[in-house]
Amino acid sequence: MGMFDDVKFKMKCPKCKTKMDNFQSKDGDCAMFLLEFWEVNNFYDSCHNCNTWVEFFLKKKMNKKRTIQDYERVVKISTDEEEKAHRKKYNDFAEMLKIGKFALNKENGQ
Ligand SMILES: [Zn+2]
Repeated sequence: MGMFDDVKFKMKCPKCKTKMDNFQSKDGDCAMFLLEFWEVNNFYDSCHNCNTWVEFFLKKKMNKKRTIQDYERVVKISTDEEEKAHRKKYNDFAEMLKIGKFALNKENGQ
């Protein structure tokens, strides 16, 4: 039932220079995997400091290994809805990890 995958990509916010390293994508298996950006065609993050939304779209299909120059970068102020949805997904994931751990501990009789 996945929701998204995390994408291994870091950059500084184009507006406030805060580190952005919580990029996500729905292009993969959406099974909470950690993917390289060149494994997906679209990935995004929003700056937790200034709410700037940064999204990358692959410009065209590439057969060779992609570089970040093969992606179109979109930067905008995120709407509340987008920001909330992004945060919620992240929080749900953290919650799932906690619940998963708890279930495992229970199985192991702890
Ligand atoms: Zn920012």
